[in-house]
Amino acid sequence: METKQKTIGLIGGMSWESTVAYYQIINETIKKELGGLHSAKILLYSVNFAEIEHLQSIGAWHKSAEILANIAQCLEKAGANFIVICTNTMHKVVPFIKQKISIPLLHIAEATADALKEQNIHKIGLLGTQYTLTQNFYKDILTEKGIEVVIPNKVDIFYTNNIIYEELCRGIILPSSKEIYLNVIAKLQQNGVEAIVLGCTEIGLLIKQEDVSLPIFDTTLIHARKAALLSIEK
Ligand code: GLU
Repeated sequence: METKQKTIGLIGGMSWESTVAYYQIINETIKKELGGLHSAKILLYSVNFAEIEHLQSIGAWHKSAEILANIAQCLEKAGANFIVICTNTMHKVVPFIKQKISIPLLHIAEATADALKEQNIHKIGLLGTQYTLTQNFYKDILTEKGIEVVIPNKVDIFYTNNIIYEELCRGIILPSSKEIYLNVIAKLQQNGVEAIVLGCTEIGLLIKQEDVSLPIFDTTLIHARKAALLSIEK
């Protein structure tokens, strides 16, 4: 028996805490859709995040772009039918990666914008790393699709960014940090946003839908589900 199914090329490890969630969500989705013993066909290339984070911190995006493009090429050669990068931040270098491969890349911000539009949401509060929030590579994709993006203030970006790198990416989940995030979300809510986008793949480890009255759009969930559905699309 052979199932008509595409092989998903995952670039993970950024951090591996959230790549675990991708692996689980993708397989859960396939199980739900196909039943029985069906599971996803996945090639996973997991990086050493310390190396990537170092390049981020010194602004050497060209270097990390080359590393991730090489990995995408490896996955293509190994038989991946499309690429999924398991982090929002590193989508900064997607335009470069796309030039180096001939298979499609499932963009996390595009998938998120589609999910927001499906729910008729036009104004969101965005949470994520300082790079995702203060640079344009990510927000532009949402605004081009007609979604107004509100970000936290400078101080809040500083604290929430620290929590991502110092705690969530290391598997540390603290109630005090959850409080900080909930306070930031409350401020975004006062700005009239209709939903909160968890624009960092680890925030879902800390903040759940039941913690917040506004609808939560978790990019990990959206991206991983879409990847799974794409792999079995007829
Ligand atoms: N996984 C996080 C994100 O979605 C942050 C880690 C990174 O810098 O890639 O942005």
